[in-house]
Amino acid sequence: MTEKTFYIETFGCQMNAHDSEKVVGTLAHSGYTQVDTPEAAGLVVYNTCSIRDKAEQKVFHRLDQFKRGAKKGKILAVIGCVAQQEGERIFDKAPHVSLVAGSASYNRLPEMLVQLEAGNRRVTGLDLDTSETFDTPFTRRDKPYRAYITIIEGCDKSCAYCVVPFTRGPERSRTSESVMREATGLVDAGYSEVQLLGQNVNSYRDPSPAGWDFATLLDRVGRIPGMRRVRFTTSHPRDFVKEIVEAIDGNPALCNHVHLPVQSGSSRVLQSMQRLYTRDEYMRRIEWMKKARRNISITTDIIVGFPGETEADFQATLDLLGEVEYDSLFSFKYSPRPNTAALGMEDQVPEEEKTRRMTILLEKQRAIQIRKNSELIGTVEEALVEGRNEALGQWIGRTSQNRPLNFTHADSDGASMMGKYLPVLVTRDGPNSLAGESMMSVV
Ligand code: SAM
Ligand code: SF4
Repeated sequence: MTEKTFYIETFGCQMNAHDSEKVVGTLAHSGYTQVDTPEAAGLVVYNTCSIRDKAEQKVFHRLDQFKRGAKKGKILAVIGCVAQQEGERIFDKAPHVSLVAGSASYNRLPEMLVQLEAGNRRVTGLDLDTSETFDTPFTRRDKPYRAYITIIEGCDKSCAYCVVPFTRGPERSRTSESVMREATGLVDAGYSEVQLLGQNVNSYRDPSPAGWDFATLLDRVGRIPGMRRVRFTTSHPRDFVKEIVEAIDGNPALCNHVHLPVQSGSSRVLQSMQRLYTRDEYMRRIEWMKKARRNISITTDIIVGFPGETEADFQATLDLLGEVEYDSLFSFKYSPRPNTAALGMEDQVPEEEKTRRMTILLEKQRAIQIRKNSELIGTVEEALVEGRNEALGQWIGRTSQNRPLNFTHADSDGASMMGKYLPVLVTRDGPNSLAGESMMSVV
C-alpha cells in the first residue's frame, strides 16, 4: 500500500491556525503523514480565509497554480471560510478540487476522508446548522510552549461588513469541564501558556449546569497549578464586562493584555456597522482597564473607509486613538464582502481615499507606540523565551502585555532557555518591539 501523505497551507486568523492544528491531528490519526511541500503530497489542503477580498483572491490564485498537480492524481481540498462562503461554486471555478468543507463540518472530516479514499470525486461538508464544536483529542500543536484552546465557535452578531456569521455558523460554547480538562492536560504535557480562542471569546456561556461565564472560566484556567500565562482573543466590546478586568487584577497568571476591537471612533459609523455599542460605551470599558491595579495593555482593530465614513468620522477615529493610546493595532481598509449588509450601502469610499486614511492612521499610531515603548526603558519585564535569533545573538521573548522583547543573556551558550520565563531589563525600544538584557536567574 502506498503511503498516504498530505500538505496543508493555512490562511487567515488564529482560529484558522488552530483549526489546522486539529485537522492535522485528525489526518494523522487517519493514517496520513504530513509533508513539507504540495509536490510531495497526495492530499493538498488549503484552509482558507474570506474576511477580505484579498485573502480570498490568494486562495483562488493557489488553486490556479495547482491545476497541473491535479492531473497527476493529487487530491485537492478547500476548507475554511472560502469553502463555506463559495460552497459548490468552488467546483465550477476550480474543477480539480475534490473536497469543500466549512469549519462547522470538521466533525465529519474522518467520514469525508473515507469517501475521498473510496474514489469519490466530489465531497462536501457545508452544513452550518450545527450545535457541535470541533473538539478533537488528536490536535497536533505547532508551538512548544504556547497552546490554543477554542472555547467558543461561530458568531451570533451581525456586523454589517463581516462574513464570519455566514462562514462559521452560530455561536456555540464548549462545556467548562471540557475546557478545563484540555487546559489541565496541556500543563501536564509541558505547556505553560494558553490562549483561549473565539470570534467573540467573551460571549462564552458554559452550556453545562455549572453555567460559568467567561470571567469565571478565565479565572479558573489561570488557577490551574503550573499555568503561567493565559491570553484570550478576540473580545467584543458589547460583551466586555467589568468582571473580566477584576479577574485580571486578581490573578497574575492572566496576561495584562486585552484586544478590544473598536472598528471606528464615530458613534454614527458604529451604528451603521451594527456594532451594538457607542463610542462612550466603548470608552467606559477602556476606563475600567485604565483604572485597574495592573497595567493592562490595550490593542484594537480599526476599519477605515466603511461606506459613508466622512472626514469628520475619520477624525473621530484619530481622536479616539489619542484618547485610548493603544499599545498596538490592526487596521484594515473596508473590503466589500458577499451577503453582508454593507455591500449595498451608498457612499462607498474610493480606494485611494481609504489608502490615504490608513496611512494617516498608521502614522499617528506609530508615534503613540514610540512614545509608550520608550517609557518602558529601565523597567524589568518578564519574558517567555520563544526562540533564538542567531544572527543578532538574541533570544526572542514576549512579555505578558504581548510585546516582543528580544534580549541577550550572558549564559547564552548554556542549556537551552526555550520556554523559560526570565526577568529582562529593557534597554532599547522601537515602535513595535523592545530589546534588553536578561537579569540572569532562570525560573
Ligand atoms: N469578532 C471580532 C470583533 O467583532 O471584534 C473580530 C473578528 S474579525 C475575524 C477580525 C477583524 O477583521 C475585525 O475586527 C475587522 O476589523 C476586520 N474585518 C472584518 N470584516 C472586514 C471587512 N469586510 N473589511 C475590512 N476589515 C474587516
Ligand atoms: Fe464579524 Fe462582528 Fe461577528 Fe466579529 S462580532 S466576527 S466582526 S460579525
